[in-house]
Amino acid sequence: MSDILAINGGRPVRDKYLPYGQHWIDEEDIEAVADVLKSDYLTTGPKARELEEKIAEYVGAKYAVVVASGTAALHAACFAAGIKEGDEVITTPITFAASANCVLYQGGIPVFADIDPKTYNIDTNQIEKKITKKTKAIIPVDFTGQAVDLDGILQIAEYYNLIVIEDAAHAIGTEYKGKKIGAISHMTEFSLHPVKHITTGEGGIITTNNGEYQKKLSLFRTHGITRDKELLTNKKEGSWYYEQIELGYNYRITDIQCALGISQLKKIDSFIKKRREIAETYNRYLSQIDGIIIPYQEPYSNSSWHLYIIQIELEKFKAGRKEIFEALKAENIGVNVHYIPVYYHPYYQKLGYKKGLCPNAEKLYERIITLPLFPKMNNKDIEDVVKAIEKVLGYYRK
Ligand SMILES: *Cc1c(COP(=O)(O)O)cnc(C)c1O
Repeated sequence: MSDILAINGGRPVRDKYLPYGQHWIDEEDIEAVADVLKSDYLTTGPKARELEEKIAEYVGAKYAVVVASGTAALHAACFAAGIKEGDEVITTPITFAASANCVLYQGGIPVFADIDPKTYNIDTNQIEKKITKKTKAIIPVDFTGQAVDLDGILQIAEYYNLIVIEDAAHAIGTEYKGKKIGAISHMTEFSLHPVKHITTGEGGIITTNNGEYQKKLSLFRTHGITRDKELLTNKKEGSWYYEQIELGYNYRITDIQCALGISQLKKIDSFIKKRREIAETYNRYLSQIDGIIIPYQEPYSNSSWHLYIIQIELEKFKAGRKEIFEALKAENIGVNVHYIPVYYHPYYQKLGYKKGLCPNAEKLYERIITLPLFPKMNNKDIEDVVKAIEKVLGYYRK
């Protein structure tokens, strides 16, 4: 291996680029999709119901509603929670924009509470400080797959009469105090995007134990239209009759996609096992390299590991995060940064959010790099990542 960094013209650690995340589709998945294509039903139908039942069972919830994306799932959950014009909803800045955008869709106001610098998850004490008379809900994110402090958050929610919509896009299969997440919060959202644990191509699902929420979520998925006799205002019309009773959207998912989801779900345990093994291997190697902080895990959480994020102790290096990041990328390692604090985005700046709002989140953002993590990675891939880190950090070390 050449010591000259690839970014300076040396030979990269790998010839082939290693992405940061990737789906794993096998022949069984392909057959399951092809079967639906040969059937009579393409859009939301029997496969969607089957996926709902199976995911509800997997997480231990009474109900699940599957929709077109994780973002649609969050939007539907905000609708079901009754978020409307002027309502405040507390979330974390270290997340994908969807966790806050879903509040804006409903005319609500996202309020950012700072993170715990150790776990990178929303800090329960900071949540309480942000509560006002207008606060209606909390959207905590199980960031990277690590469960948030659910007992603490639910206790606050109960005291202030708030609804908890858990954004568990990173965390299907994660356990909190030995119990799978999905039925602990009032509603839990999972994403079925290809970089997440299991995929439908695009898709999302909300799980809940509350039948009222389940009804509202289902209505929202299809324009707010119902044929349910119990919900109709006019019960005298014929069997053609339906009513739009809410303003919903077309957030339906196809049975083509749901067949893929059902097939993927059969493999979720092996996918998560691989993710946990890779994270452990990273921990073992990287804890020996000076200048890196590996991800701290709370004992109450058994993460399903969507992301593996390292913090660079920048004071130990001659280069900044940007140089280190670009040098790793030149070695053909698919590094990434999760996330730019949501309120840094120009759209949020225009809404009036100011830098300095969440100092822990802002400091973390300067120092993080996401490493590749997906079940199909082999030992050589993991070793290449470690080699590239040793090479790059070795070069820039003070
Ligand atoms: C992936 C993700 C979502 C949902 O994303 P979709 O692409 O719409 O499925 C929401 N929140 C977080 C934190 C995510 O990572």
